[in-house]
Amino acid sequence: MSIDANAVVLERYNAKVFKNRKEHMLKVNPAEDQIIIANTRAIPGIMTNRGCCYAGCKGVVLGPIKDMVTITHGPVGCGFYSWGTRRNKAKAEGDAPNYIQYCFTTDMQEPDIVFGGTKKLKKAIDEIMELMHPKTIMIAATCPVGLIGDDIQAVAAEAEKEYGIRCVAYSCEGYKGVSQSAGHHIANNGLMKRVIGTGDYEPATKYSVNILGEYNIGGDGWEQERILKKIGYEVVSVFTGDGEVERIASSHKANLNLVQCHRSINYIAEMMKTKYGVDWLKVNFIGLEGTVQSLRDMAAYFGDPELAQRTEQVIAEELAEVQDQMAAYKARLNGKTAALFVGGSRSHHYQGLLQDLGIKTVLAGYEFGHRDDYEGREIIPNIKDDADSKNIEHITVEKDEKKYHAYLTQEQYDKLAAEIPLEKYHGMIRDMDEGTYVVDDLNMYEAEKFMEILKPDMFFSGIKDKYALQKAGTLSRQLHSYDYSGPYAGFKGATQFGYDLCMGYFTPAWHMVTPPWKNRATLQGTVGE
Ligand code: SF4
Repeated sequence: MSIDANAVVLERYNAKVFKNRKEHMLKVNPAEDQIIIANTRAIPGIMTNRGCCYAGCKGVVLGPIKDMVTITHGPVGCGFYSWGTRRNKAKAEGDAPNYIQYCFTTDMQEPDIVFGGTKKLKKAIDEIMELMHPKTIMIAATCPVGLIGDDIQAVAAEAEKEYGIRCVAYSCEGYKGVSQSAGHHIANNGLMKRVIGTGDYEPATKYSVNILGEYNIGGDGWEQERILKKIGYEVVSVFTGDGEVERIASSHKANLNLVQCHRSINYIAEMMKTKYGVDWLKVNFIGLEGTVQSLRDMAAYFGDPELAQRTEQVIAEELAEVQDQMAAYKARLNGKTAALFVGGSRSHHYQGLLQDLGIKTVLAGYEFGHRDDYEGREIIPNIKDDADSKNIEHITVEKDEKKYHAYLTQEQYDKLAAEIPLEKYHGMIRDMDEGTYVVDDLNMYEAEKFMEILKPDMFFSGIKDKYALQKAGTLSRQLHSYDYSGPYAGFKGATQFGYDLCMGYFTPAWHMVTPPWKNRATLQGTVGE
Protein backbone atom coordinates (compact mmCIF):
# COMPACT_ATOMS: atom_id res chain seq x y z
CA MET A 1 0.00 0.00 0.00
CA SER A 2 1.32 3.44 -0.85
CA ILE A 3 2.20 5.84 1.93
CA ASP A 4 -0.48 8.25 3.22
CA ALA A 5 1.41 11.54 3.48
CA ASN A 6 -1.45 13.17 5.41
CA ALA A 7 -1.15 10.58 8.19
CA VAL A 8 2.60 11.11 8.46
CA VAL A 9 2.22 14.89 8.64
CA LEU A 10 -0.53 14.65 11.26
CA GLU A 11 1.52 12.38 13.55
CA ARG A 12 3.32 15.36 15.09
CA TYR A 13 0.15 17.06 16.40
CA ASN A 14 -1.52 16.73 19.79
CA ALA A 15 -5.02 15.25 19.85
CA LYS A 16 -6.87 18.57 19.58
CA VAL A 17 -4.84 19.91 16.67
CA PHE A 18 -4.85 16.49 14.99
CA LYS A 19 -8.66 16.39 15.10
CA ASN A 20 -8.87 19.85 13.53
CA ARG A 21 -6.19 19.57 10.87
CA LYS A 22 -7.16 16.12 9.61
CA GLU A 23 -10.46 17.54 8.35
CA HIS A 24 -8.54 20.04 6.19
CA MET A 25 -6.65 17.34 4.28
CA LEU A 26 -7.58 14.63 1.83
CA LYS A 27 -6.07 12.23 -0.65
CA VAL A 28 -7.98 12.49 -3.92
CA ASN A 29 -10.23 9.54 -4.69
CA PRO A 30 -12.52 10.21 -7.68
CA ALA A 31 -14.73 7.26 -6.73
CA GLU A 32 -15.97 9.11 -3.62
CA ASP A 33 -17.77 12.40 -2.95
CA GLN A 34 -15.00 13.81 -0.81
CA ILE A 35 -15.58 16.55 1.75
CA ILE A 36 -12.92 18.97 2.96
CA ILE A 37 -13.38 21.44 5.78
CA ALA A 38 -12.39 24.97 4.81
CA ASN A 39 -13.01 28.62 5.74
CA THR A 40 -12.76 27.94 9.48
CA ARG A 41 -10.49 29.58 12.06
CA ALA A 42 -6.76 29.00 11.84
CA ILE A 43 -5.25 27.30 14.89
CA PRO A 44 -3.42 29.85 17.08
CA GLY A 45 0.37 29.56 16.90
CA ILE A 46 0.42 27.23 13.91
CA MET A 47 2.10 29.71 11.51
CA THR A 48 -0.71 29.99 9.02
CA ASN A 49 -0.04 31.80 5.75
CA ARG A 50 -3.37 33.63 5.94
CA GLY A 51 -3.95 37.37 5.99
CA CYS A 52 -6.87 39.38 7.31
CA CYS A 53 -10.23 40.79 6.25
CA TYR A 54 -8.71 44.25 5.61
CA ALA A 55 -6.17 42.64 3.25
CA GLY A 56 -9.00 40.98 1.31
CA CYS A 57 -11.08 44.15 1.10
CA LYS A 58 -8.57 46.94 0.60
CA GLY A 59 -5.53 44.96 -0.52
CA VAL A 60 -7.25 42.69 -3.03
CA VAL A 61 -10.53 44.14 -4.29
CA LEU A 62 -10.53 47.92 -3.72
CA GLY A 63 -6.82 48.76 -3.88
CA PRO A 64 -6.32 48.14 -7.63
CA ILE A 65 -9.08 50.58 -8.70
CA LYS A 66 -6.96 53.43 -9.97
CA ASP A 67 -9.26 56.44 -10.21
CA MET A 68 -10.30 56.56 -6.57
CA VAL A 69 -8.52 57.18 -3.30
CA THR A 70 -8.70 54.44 -0.67
CA ILE A 71 -7.89 55.58 2.86
CA THR A 72 -6.68 53.05 5.39
CA HIS A 73 -8.18 54.21 8.67
CA GLY A 74 -5.91 52.84 11.36
CA PRO A 75 -2.38 52.82 12.78
CA VAL A 76 0.31 53.05 10.14
CA GLY A 77 1.27 49.37 9.79
CA CYS A 78 -1.70 48.04 7.81
CA GLY A 79 -1.44 50.70 5.10
CA PHE A 80 2.35 50.66 5.03
CA TYR A 81 2.79 46.90 4.63
CA SER A 82 0.13 46.73 1.91
CA TRP A 83 1.62 49.69 0.01
CA GLY A 84 2.69 48.58 -3.47
CA THR A 85 3.29 44.98 -2.44
CA ARG A 86 0.56 43.44 -4.62
CA ARG A 87 1.59 43.92 -8.20
CA ASN A 88 -1.72 45.14 -9.64
CA LYS A 89 -0.42 47.10 -12.57
CA ALA A 90 -2.30 50.22 -13.62
CA LYS A 91 -1.67 52.67 -16.44
CA ALA A 92 -2.30 56.37 -16.16
CA GLU A 93 -4.39 57.28 -19.19
CA GLY A 94 -4.28 60.84 -20.48
CA ASP A 95 -5.39 63.20 -17.76
CA ALA A 96 -7.40 60.51 -15.99
CA PRO A 97 -6.35 60.10 -12.39
CA ASN A 98 -4.28 57.18 -11.14
CA TYR A 99 -3.78 57.08 -7.37
CA ILE A 100 -2.59 53.55 -6.80
CA GLN A 101 1.06 54.43 -6.31
CA TYR A 102 0.11 56.24 -3.09
CA CYS A 103 -0.61 54.98 0.41
CA PHE A 104 -3.28 57.00 2.22
CA THR A 105 -3.57 56.37 5.94
CA THR A 106 -4.89 58.21 8.98
CA ASP A 107 -1.89 56.94 10.98
CA MET A 108 -3.89 56.68 14.24
CA GLN A 109 -2.05 57.54 17.44
CA GLU A 110 -2.88 56.91 21.10
CA PRO A 111 -5.18 59.94 21.48
CA ASP A 112 -7.20 58.72 18.46
CA ILE A 113 -7.70 55.36 20.17
CA VAL A 114 -8.68 57.02 23.46
CA PHE A 115 -10.85 59.84 22.11
CA GLY A 116 -11.91 58.33 18.77
CA GLY A 117 -10.46 58.71 15.28
CA THR A 118 -13.37 60.12 13.29
CA LYS A 119 -12.16 63.73 13.47
CA LYS A 120 -8.80 62.70 12.08
CA LEU A 121 -10.49 60.68 9.34
CA LYS A 122 -12.58 63.67 8.30
CA LYS A 123 -9.47 65.85 8.31
CA ALA A 124 -7.72 63.29 6.08
CA ILE A 125 -10.62 63.50 3.62
CA ASP A 126 -10.45 67.32 3.66
CA GLU A 127 -6.72 67.20 2.89
CA ILE A 128 -7.18 64.65 0.11
CA MET A 129 -9.92 66.77 -1.46
CA GLU A 130 -7.68 69.81 -1.36
CA LEU A 131 -4.64 68.04 -2.81
CA MET A 132 -6.06 65.41 -5.17
CA HIS A 133 -9.73 66.23 -5.94
CA PRO A 134 -10.86 62.60 -6.42
CA LYS A 135 -14.45 61.87 -7.41
CA THR A 136 -14.55 58.77 -5.26
CA ILE A 137 -13.06 58.03 -1.84
CA MET A 138 -13.22 54.65 -0.13
CA ILE A 139 -12.46 54.16 3.55
CA ALA A 140 -11.14 50.81 4.78
CA ALA A 141 -11.32 50.09 8.52
CA THR A 142 -8.55 48.27 10.38
CA CYS A 143 -8.65 46.36 13.68
CA PRO A 144 -8.94 49.14 16.28
CA VAL A 145 -11.64 51.04 14.36
CA GLY A 146 -14.40 48.57 15.18
CA LEU A 147 -13.17 48.10 18.76
CA ILE A 148 -13.30 51.80 19.66
CA GLY A 149 -16.58 52.33 17.78
CA ASP A 150 -15.55 54.94 15.18
CA ASP A 151 -18.62 55.63 13.04
CA ILE A 152 -16.91 55.64 9.66
CA GLN A 153 -20.22 55.38 7.81
CA ALA A 154 -21.27 58.75 9.27
CA VAL A 155 -17.96 60.34 8.23
CA ALA A 156 -18.42 59.01 4.68
CA ALA A 157 -21.97 60.36 4.50
CA GLU A 158 -20.79 63.77 5.75
CA ALA A 159 -18.00 63.89 3.13
CA GLU A 160 -20.41 62.97 0.34
CA LYS A 161 -22.70 65.80 1.31
CA GLU A 162 -19.97 68.36 1.75
CA TYR A 163 -17.97 67.60 -1.40
CA GLY A 164 -20.58 66.04 -3.72
CA ILE A 165 -18.40 62.96 -4.24
CA ARG A 166 -18.95 59.23 -3.76
CA CYS A 167 -17.54 58.17 -0.41
CA VAL A 168 -18.02 54.62 0.81
CA ALA A 169 -16.85 53.19 4.14
CA TYR A 170 -16.03 49.49 4.53
CA SER A 171 -16.11 47.90 7.96
CA CYS A 172 -13.42 45.38 7.07
CA GLU A 173 -11.62 45.23 10.42
CA GLY A 174 -8.87 42.62 10.31
CA TYR A 175 -10.44 40.36 12.94
CA LYS A 176 -13.65 39.81 10.95
CA GLY A 177 -14.15 36.35 9.48
CA VAL A 178 -11.16 34.02 9.44
CA SER A 179 -9.07 35.22 6.48
CA GLN A 180 -8.91 37.57 3.48
CA SER A 181 -12.12 35.96 2.25
CA ALA A 182 -14.36 38.00 4.58
CA GLY A 183 -12.87 41.17 3.10
CA HIS A 184 -13.69 40.07 -0.45
CA HIS A 185 -17.31 39.66 0.57
CA ILE A 186 -17.47 43.05 2.31
CA ALA A 187 -15.86 44.78 -0.71
CA ASN A 188 -18.29 43.02 -3.09
CA ASN A 189 -21.24 44.25 -1.03
CA GLY A 190 -19.98 47.85 -1.04
CA LEU A 191 -19.35 47.91 -4.80
CA MET A 192 -22.75 46.37 -5.45
CA LYS A 193 -24.61 48.78 -3.19
CA ARG A 194 -22.87 51.99 -4.14
CA VAL A 195 -21.08 51.69 -7.50
CA ILE A 196 -22.44 49.07 -9.93
CA GLY A 197 -25.52 50.29 -11.77
CA THR A 198 -24.84 54.00 -11.28
CA GLY A 199 -22.98 54.71 -14.56
CA ASP A 200 -24.37 55.48 -17.98
CA TYR A 201 -21.58 54.38 -20.34
CA GLU A 202 -23.08 52.46 -23.28
CA PRO A 203 -21.02 49.58 -24.68
CA ALA A 204 -20.33 49.93 -28.40
CA THR A 205 -20.99 46.27 -29.28
CA LYS A 206 -23.31 43.51 -28.10
CA TYR A 207 -20.19 41.38 -27.49
CA SER A 208 -19.60 43.29 -24.30
CA VAL A 209 -18.09 41.63 -21.25
CA ASN A 210 -16.71 42.41 -17.80
CA ILE A 211 -13.76 40.44 -16.45
CA LEU A 212 -14.49 39.69 -12.80
CA GLY A 213 -11.83 38.63 -10.32
CA GLU A 214 -8.86 39.67 -12.47
CA TYR A 215 -6.37 41.85 -10.61
CA ASN A 216 -3.81 42.43 -13.36
CA ILE A 217 -0.86 40.99 -11.45
CA GLY A 218 2.19 41.52 -13.66
CA GLY A 219 -0.15 42.58 -16.52
CA ASP A 220 -2.34 39.42 -16.66
CA GLY A 221 -5.49 41.46 -17.29
CA TRP A 222 -3.86 43.34 -20.16
CA GLU A 223 -2.98 40.08 -21.91
CA GLN A 224 -6.58 38.91 -21.54
CA GLU A 225 -7.93 42.21 -22.86
CA ARG A 226 -5.52 42.05 -25.80
CA ILE A 227 -6.87 38.65 -26.86
CA LEU A 228 -10.51 39.58 -26.32
CA LYS A 229 -10.19 42.81 -28.28
CA LYS A 230 -8.47 40.98 -31.13
CA ILE A 231 -11.50 38.71 -31.41
CA GLY A 232 -13.92 41.62 -31.32
CA TYR A 233 -15.15 41.82 -27.71
CA GLU A 234 -15.49 45.02 -25.78
CA VAL A 235 -14.25 44.83 -22.21
CA VAL A 236 -16.53 47.25 -20.36
CA SER A 237 -14.80 46.92 -17.01
CA VAL A 238 -12.32 44.80 -15.10
CA PHE A 239 -12.85 43.98 -11.44
CA THR A 240 -10.47 45.35 -10.45
CA GLY A 241 -6.97 45.19 -11.98
CA ASP A 242 -6.22 48.48 -13.77
CA GLY A 243 -9.89 49.09 -12.92
CA GLU A 244 -11.76 52.36 -13.12
CA VAL A 245 -14.59 53.08 -10.72
CA GLU A 246 -16.44 54.99 -13.44
CA ARG A 247 -16.40 51.92 -15.72
CA ILE A 248 -17.35 49.57 -12.87
CA ALA A 249 -20.35 51.86 -12.35
CA SER A 250 -21.51 50.94 -15.89
CA SER A 251 -20.60 47.24 -15.72
CA HIS A 252 -24.30 46.28 -15.50
CA LYS A 253 -24.64 47.27 -19.17
CA ALA A 254 -22.36 44.46 -20.39
CA ASN A 255 -23.93 41.25 -21.68
CA LEU A 256 -21.69 38.71 -19.98
CA ASN A 257 -19.54 38.52 -16.85
CA LEU A 258 -16.41 36.39 -17.07
CA VAL A 259 -15.40 35.05 -13.68
CA GLN A 260 -11.66 34.40 -13.37
CA CYS A 261 -11.18 34.28 -9.55
CA HIS A 262 -14.35 32.65 -8.28
CA ARG A 263 -13.53 33.10 -4.60
CA SER A 264 -13.12 36.86 -4.47
CA ILE A 265 -15.92 37.97 -6.78
CA ASN A 266 -18.64 35.31 -7.03
CA TYR A 267 -20.90 37.43 -4.80
CA ILE A 268 -20.99 40.26 -7.36
CA ALA A 269 -21.46 37.80 -10.24
CA GLU A 270 -24.50 36.30 -8.50
CA MET A 271 -25.98 39.66 -7.50
CA MET A 272 -25.54 41.14 -10.99
CA LYS A 273 -27.40 38.17 -12.44
CA THR A 274 -30.34 38.68 -10.05
CA LYS A 275 -30.48 42.46 -10.30
CA TYR A 276 -29.50 43.16 -13.90
CA GLY A 277 -29.85 39.79 -15.67
CA VAL A 278 -26.14 39.60 -16.62
CA ASP A 279 -25.12 35.93 -16.91
CA TRP A 280 -21.73 34.80 -15.69
CA LEU A 281 -19.36 32.29 -17.17
CA LYS A 282 -16.47 30.62 -15.34
CA VAL A 283 -13.34 31.15 -17.37
CA ASN A 284 -9.68 30.33 -16.85
CA PHE A 285 -7.18 32.35 -18.84
CA ILE A 286 -4.20 30.62 -17.22
CA GLY A 287 -2.66 27.99 -19.49
CA LEU A 288 -3.08 27.39 -23.20
CA GLU A 289 -5.83 24.81 -22.90
CA GLY A 290 -7.72 26.86 -20.34
CA THR A 291 -7.52 29.99 -22.48
CA VAL A 292 -8.62 28.19 -25.66
CA GLN A 293 -11.54 26.54 -23.86
CA SER A 294 -12.64 29.81 -22.27
CA LEU A 295 -12.61 31.61 -25.63
CA ARG A 296 -14.67 28.81 -27.20
CA ASP A 297 -17.17 28.91 -24.33
CA MET A 298 -17.54 32.67 -24.81
CA ALA A 299 -18.14 32.23 -28.54
CA ALA A 300 -20.75 29.56 -27.76
CA TYR A 301 -22.46 31.97 -25.37
CA PHE A 302 -22.84 34.72 -27.97
CA GLY A 303 -23.81 32.15 -30.61
CA ASP A 304 -22.65 34.13 -33.64
CA PRO A 305 -20.96 32.01 -36.35
CA GLU A 306 -18.78 34.94 -37.43
CA LEU A 307 -17.56 35.50 -33.87
CA ALA A 308 -16.90 31.76 -33.53
CA GLN A 309 -14.88 31.80 -36.74
CA ARG A 310 -12.87 34.83 -35.61
CA THR A 311 -12.27 33.07 -32.27
CA GLU A 312 -10.81 30.03 -34.03
CA GLN A 313 -8.68 32.25 -36.25
CA VAL A 314 -7.23 34.13 -33.27
CA ILE A 315 -6.64 30.87 -31.36
CA ALA A 316 -4.78 29.42 -34.36
CA GLU A 317 -2.65 32.56 -34.80
CA GLU A 318 -1.79 32.82 -31.13
CA LEU A 319 -0.98 29.13 -30.73
CA ALA A 320 1.24 29.22 -33.81
CA GLU A 321 3.18 32.09 -32.27
CA VAL A 322 3.91 30.33 -28.98
CA GLN A 323 4.11 26.66 -29.92
CA ASP A 324 7.86 26.43 -30.55
CA GLN A 325 8.72 28.14 -27.28
CA MET A 326 6.22 26.05 -25.31
CA ALA A 327 7.55 22.85 -26.89
CA ALA A 328 11.11 23.82 -25.92
CA TYR A 329 10.11 24.47 -22.28
CA LYS A 330 8.04 21.28 -22.17
CA ALA A 331 10.97 19.24 -23.43
CA ARG A 332 12.97 20.46 -20.43
CA LEU A 333 10.24 20.25 -17.78
CA ASN A 334 8.30 17.17 -18.83
CA GLY A 335 7.78 14.65 -16.03
CA LYS A 336 8.55 17.04 -13.18
CA THR A 337 6.21 17.33 -10.19
CA ALA A 338 4.81 20.36 -8.39
CA ALA A 339 3.02 21.41 -5.21
CA LEU A 340 0.85 24.54 -5.15
CA PHE A 341 -0.33 26.54 -2.19
CA VAL A 342 -1.88 29.87 -3.14
CA GLY A 343 -4.83 32.03 -2.02
CA GLY A 344 -8.24 31.08 -3.33
CA SER A 345 -8.02 30.30 -7.05
CA ARG A 346 -4.51 30.02 -8.50
CA SER A 347 -3.80 26.60 -6.98
CA HIS A 348 -6.46 25.33 -9.36
CA HIS A 349 -5.90 27.55 -12.41
CA TYR A 350 -2.15 26.91 -12.61
CA GLN A 351 -2.53 23.15 -12.69
CA GLY A 352 -3.64 23.51 -16.34
CA LEU A 353 -0.62 25.60 -17.25
CA LEU A 354 1.68 23.10 -15.50
CA GLN A 355 0.06 20.31 -17.49
CA ASP A 356 0.76 22.25 -20.70
CA LEU A 357 4.43 22.00 -19.68
CA GLY A 358 4.21 18.31 -18.78
CA ILE A 359 4.39 18.94 -15.00
CA LYS A 360 2.21 16.87 -12.68
CA THR A 361 0.63 18.35 -9.55
CA VAL A 362 1.08 16.19 -6.45
CA LEU A 363 -0.36 18.54 -3.82
CA ALA A 364 -2.56 21.64 -3.94
CA GLY A 365 -4.32 23.79 -1.39
CA TYR A 366 -5.90 27.16 -0.76
CA GLU A 367 -5.19 29.63 2.02
CA PHE A 368 -8.78 30.85 2.22
CA GLY A 369 -10.88 28.90 -0.30
CA HIS A 370 -14.32 27.76 0.80
CA ARG A 371 -15.70 24.27 0.30
CA ASP A 372 -17.24 25.28 -3.06
CA ASP A 373 -13.78 26.24 -4.39
CA TYR A 374 -12.64 22.70 -3.59
CA GLU A 375 -15.79 20.68 -4.19
CA GLY A 376 -17.88 22.76 -6.63
CA ARG A 377 -20.70 25.26 -6.28
CA GLU A 378 -23.42 22.64 -5.99
CA ILE A 379 -22.46 22.00 -2.37
CA ILE A 380 -23.14 25.66 -1.35
CA PRO A 381 -26.58 24.83 0.14
CA ASN A 382 -24.85 22.32 2.45
CA ILE A 383 -22.39 24.86 3.87
CA LYS A 384 -23.50 26.02 7.29
CA ASP A 385 -22.70 29.52 8.57
CA ASP A 386 -20.58 29.44 11.70
CA ALA A 387 -20.01 32.16 14.30
CA ASP A 388 -17.14 33.64 12.26
CA SER A 389 -19.11 34.06 9.04
CA LYS A 390 -22.28 35.32 10.74
CA ASN A 391 -20.74 38.73 11.45
CA ILE A 392 -20.14 39.38 7.74
CA GLU A 393 -23.00 41.22 6.10
CA HIS A 394 -24.95 39.14 3.58
CA ILE A 395 -26.98 41.33 1.27
CA THR A 396 -29.80 40.35 -1.03
CA VAL A 397 -30.70 42.26 -4.17
CA GLU A 398 -33.84 42.38 -6.27
CA LYS A 399 -34.50 42.64 -9.95
CA ASP A 400 -34.09 46.20 -11.22
CA GLU A 401 -37.04 46.44 -13.63
CA LYS A 402 -35.54 49.37 -15.56
CA LYS A 403 -31.98 48.14 -15.97
CA TYR A 404 -32.60 44.39 -16.23
CA HIS A 405 -31.55 42.90 -19.56
CA ALA A 406 -31.04 39.24 -20.37
CA TYR A 407 -28.97 38.37 -23.43
CA LEU A 408 -30.34 34.85 -23.77
CA THR A 409 -33.89 33.53 -23.71
CA GLN A 410 -34.57 30.99 -20.94
CA GLU A 411 -34.60 28.23 -23.55
CA GLN A 412 -31.20 29.28 -24.97
CA TYR A 413 -29.83 29.55 -21.45
CA ASP A 414 -30.96 26.06 -20.46
CA LYS A 415 -29.48 24.56 -23.61
CA LEU A 416 -26.13 26.33 -23.16
CA ALA A 417 -25.91 25.65 -19.44
CA ALA A 418 -25.61 21.96 -20.27
CA GLU A 419 -22.61 22.67 -22.51
CA ILE A 420 -20.56 25.47 -20.94
CA PRO A 421 -19.88 26.48 -17.29
CA LEU A 422 -22.66 29.07 -17.06
CA GLU A 423 -22.99 30.07 -13.43
CA LYS A 424 -21.12 26.89 -12.55
CA TYR A 425 -17.78 26.17 -10.96
CA HIS A 426 -16.86 22.55 -10.40
CA GLY A 427 -14.02 23.20 -7.98
CA MET A 428 -10.39 22.10 -7.82
CA ILE A 429 -10.64 18.53 -6.56
CA ARG A 430 -12.36 17.18 -9.69
CA ASP A 431 -9.43 18.26 -11.85
CA MET A 432 -6.87 16.47 -9.68
CA ASP A 433 -5.53 12.96 -10.19
CA GLU A 434 -6.26 10.04 -7.91
CA GLY A 435 -3.76 9.77 -5.08
CA THR A 436 -2.74 13.44 -5.11
CA TYR A 437 -3.18 15.55 -1.97
CA VAL A 438 -5.40 18.50 -1.13
CA VAL A 439 -4.59 20.52 1.99
CA ASP A 440 -6.48 23.57 3.19
CA ASP A 441 -4.74 26.36 5.15
CA LEU A 442 -1.35 24.65 4.90
CA ASN A 443 1.13 25.92 7.48
CA MET A 444 4.92 26.18 7.51
CA TYR A 445 5.53 22.89 9.30
CA GLU A 446 3.19 21.05 6.95
CA ALA A 447 4.78 22.63 3.86
CA GLU A 448 8.22 21.40 4.95
CA LYS A 449 6.97 17.96 5.94
CA PHE A 450 5.01 17.38 2.72
CA MET A 451 8.08 18.50 0.79
CA GLU A 452 10.16 15.86 2.57
CA ILE A 453 7.65 13.10 1.84
CA LEU A 454 6.42 13.96 -1.67
CA LYS A 455 9.67 15.52 -2.92
CA PRO A 456 8.08 17.77 -5.55
CA ASP A 457 10.53 19.35 -8.00
CA MET A 458 8.98 22.75 -7.39
CA PHE A 459 6.73 24.33 -4.80
CA PHE A 460 4.56 27.29 -5.84
CA SER A 461 3.62 29.49 -2.92
CA GLY A 462 4.12 33.00 -1.54
CA ILE A 463 6.84 35.22 -0.12
CA LYS A 464 6.56 33.87 3.44
CA ASP A 465 7.57 30.33 2.66
CA LYS A 466 9.62 30.85 -0.51
CA TYR A 467 12.99 31.09 1.21
CA ALA A 468 12.38 28.31 3.74
CA LEU A 469 11.55 25.98 0.84
CA GLN A 470 14.52 27.09 -1.23
CA LYS A 471 16.88 26.71 1.74
CA ALA A 472 15.73 23.10 1.84
CA GLY A 473 16.84 22.77 -1.79
CA THR A 474 13.54 22.98 -3.69
CA LEU A 475 12.71 25.65 -6.26
CA SER A 476 9.89 27.87 -5.02
CA ARG A 477 8.23 30.30 -7.41
CA GLN A 478 5.78 32.83 -6.02
CA LEU A 479 2.34 32.62 -7.53
CA HIS A 480 1.07 35.78 -5.85
CA SER A 481 3.71 38.21 -7.06
CA TYR A 482 5.12 36.05 -9.90
CA ASP A 483 8.55 36.81 -8.44
CA TYR A 484 8.22 40.26 -10.01
CA SER A 485 7.78 38.80 -13.52
CA GLY A 486 4.65 38.22 -15.62
CA PRO A 487 2.20 38.32 -17.22
CA TYR A 488 1.44 34.61 -16.87
CA ALA A 489 -2.10 34.70 -18.31
CA GLY A 490 -3.17 33.98 -21.88
CA PHE A 491 -0.91 32.79 -24.69
CA LYS A 492 2.05 35.09 -24.21
CA GLY A 493 1.84 34.66 -20.44
CA ALA A 494 2.21 30.89 -20.78
CA THR A 495 5.59 31.32 -22.48
CA GLN A 496 6.75 33.80 -19.84
CA PHE A 497 5.83 31.25 -17.17
CA GLY A 498 7.68 28.48 -19.02
CA TYR A 499 10.75 30.68 -19.35
CA ASP A 500 10.71 31.63 -15.64
CA LEU A 501 10.31 28.01 -14.57
CA CYS A 502 13.20 26.80 -16.71
CA MET A 503 15.34 29.66 -15.46
CA GLY A 504 14.54 28.77 -11.84
CA TYR A 505 14.78 25.01 -12.13
CA PHE A 506 18.00 24.92 -14.14
CA THR A 507 19.79 27.61 -12.16
CA PRO A 508 23.39 26.33 -11.70
CA ALA A 509 23.36 27.42 -8.03
CA TRP A 510 21.27 24.34 -7.08
CA HIS A 511 24.36 22.22 -7.74
CA MET A 512 26.54 24.40 -5.53
CA VAL A 513 24.56 23.97 -2.30
CA THR A 514 26.91 21.30 -0.93
CA PRO A 515 30.48 22.57 -0.54
CA PRO A 516 33.07 20.46 -2.39
CA TRP A 517 34.86 19.34 0.78
CA LYS A 518 31.68 17.54 1.95
CA ASN A 519 31.72 14.99 -0.86
CA ARG A 520 35.30 15.10 -2.18
CA ALA A 521 38.62 14.43 -0.47
CA THR A 522 40.42 17.66 0.35
CA LEU A 523 43.89 16.12 0.38
CA GLN A 524 45.30 14.07 -2.41
CA GLY A 525 48.48 12.06 -2.45
CA THR A 526 50.02 8.61 -2.28
CA VAL A 527 51.62 6.74 0.62
CA GLY A 528 54.73 4.54 0.69
CA GLU A 529 56.50 5.37 -2.55
S1 SF4 B 1 -5.07 42.17 11.14
FE1 SF4 B 1 -5.67 44.24 11.75
S2 SF4 B 1 -3.74 45.23 12.27
FE2 SF4 B 1 -3.21 43.43 11.05
S3 SF4 B 1 -3.12 44.19 8.91
FE3 SF4 B 1 -5.21 43.42 9.26
S4 SF4 B 1 -6.34 45.27 9.87
FE4 SF4 B 1 -4.18 45.74 10.12
